Amino acid sequence: MSSAARVELAHVAQPRPAPAGGQALFDAARQAASVAVQHADQVDRDAAFPAQAVEALRAERLLGAMVPASHGGGGATLETIAGICRILGASCSATGMIYAMHQIQVACVVEHGLGSAWHGPFLERIASGQLLLASATSEEAIGGALRTSGCAVNEEGGRFHLLKMAPTISYGAHADGILITARRHADASPADQVLVCAEKSGYTLQNPTGWDTLGMRGTCSNGFRLEATGDPAQVLPVPFGEIADLTMTPVSHILWSALWIGIAGDALQRAKAFFQGQARARPGSLPPSAARVAEAVSLLQMMEGRLDLALARRRQRQADVAGGTSMSAAFTLAAEMNGLKTAVSTMALEVVQQAMLVCGMAGYKHGTPFSLGRHLRDLWSAPLMISNDRILANTASLLLADRS
Ligand SMILES: Cc1cc2nc3c(=O)[nH]c(=O)nc-3n(C[C@H](O)[C@H](O)[C@H](O)COP(=O)(O)OP(=O)(O)OC[C@H]3O[C@@H](n4cnc5c(N)ncnc54)[C@H](O)[C@@H]3O)c2cc1C
Repeated sequence: MSSAARVELAHVAQPRPAPAGGQALFDAARQAASVAVQHADQVDRDAAFPAQAVEALRAERLLGAMVPASHGGGGATLETIAGICRILGASCSATGMIYAMHQIQVACVVEHGLGSAWHGPFLERIASGQLLLASATSEEAIGGALRTSGCAVNEEGGRFHLLKMAPTISYGAHADGILITARRHADASPADQVLVCAEKSGYTLQNPTGWDTLGMRGTCSNGFRLEATGDPAQVLPVPFGEIADLTMTPVSHILWSALWIGIAGDALQRAKAFFQGQARARPGSLPPSAARVAEAVSLLQMMEGRLDLALARRRQRQADVAGGTSMSAAFTLAAEMNGLKTAVSTMALEVVQQAMLVCGMAGYKHGTPFSLGRHLRDLWSAPLMISNDRILANTASLLLADRS
């Protein structure tokens, strides 16, 4: 498929109008997406970091989009960032995922470090230098259990030292900083965690494992032996449990969902173009795949509705936190955010499967305007990125404890 045709298709699969103040950022995202789409197949084929797309994000100053204006950033809302993830996801899933993961880290620093003497200037550096942040929460022998760490922060002589065997750090080798979960100190329990902001000059990444995967190949999510040192003030001043509940988990589920909707939306756009071509070839009769297109559109709308609701609920929750909130409301919100992730990750895959059945061989083959292999492979990461089974088990525990 020519890159021009793909840009055109990607542009049809756009989010709804930009939220107030977000139009300029959406325009910038479309500009970056037009670069990303040109390299998406090569990035996927070679499992290569999407360097040109990330440079375009930097040039458009999108890496600092969520940093408050008071700290030199774009001051974008989560709604706007979700819209950008969707635009990018429709052009290159890896670029979209890198952008989403970076913004999840930025959100944690903004919401829990803005007033801190170390993290305020860190946010200014992110905006002025367009720094790219990665994440190291998973750990060998622990897997995707976000709220458990084996490694610990060790303080000595006014410096900290931390060694983590990380099985997956997306774009770790290309990042300017990594947010790392660890136990608070060597004697802390596995659940007594903190989040450490490590800058590139203060860590080493050694013994990279391979990254030859089914999909999301351009995220370059190799494992590493991660060793970090620095000023103890780099530890965010709030327990990680609070950061995870209030920010990391809901923001991850919202931004990942937006990105997955973008990927599914692009697949659906291809199926619609195929279906409309069939209809034009035989005027007066509906192509056999008509019902599948209609069903896929309805699934996409359900995902959009679910995402909108999650964004509204999170806004409400932030207002409640400011004024004090009940335990039961917190449980309900956590269960809803978990449901968003498990539902959208499953439905987005269903949409691509329907689109594949609509396009048939034209979707199955590589290099046609209707190719869907990359969409399908990339979206298979969605139910695994923090396993849906793990999330559903967590939701079930929340519901057991809920007395509302
Ligand atoms: C594209 C991609 C990028 C990623 N990037 C990063 C990154 O940048 N940083 C990072 O830290 N991590 C990253 N991860 C890892 C991710 O966050 C999870 O840690 C990882 O997907 C979980 O790996 P796992 O399936 O091997 O392990 P587990 O979560 O341990 O799951 C293994 C299996 O056990 C089952 N299981 C385990 N525990 C339970 C339970 N309690 N209840 C029910 N079932 C259970 C699950 O069904 C699953 O099939 C990335 C993953 C992907 C796919």
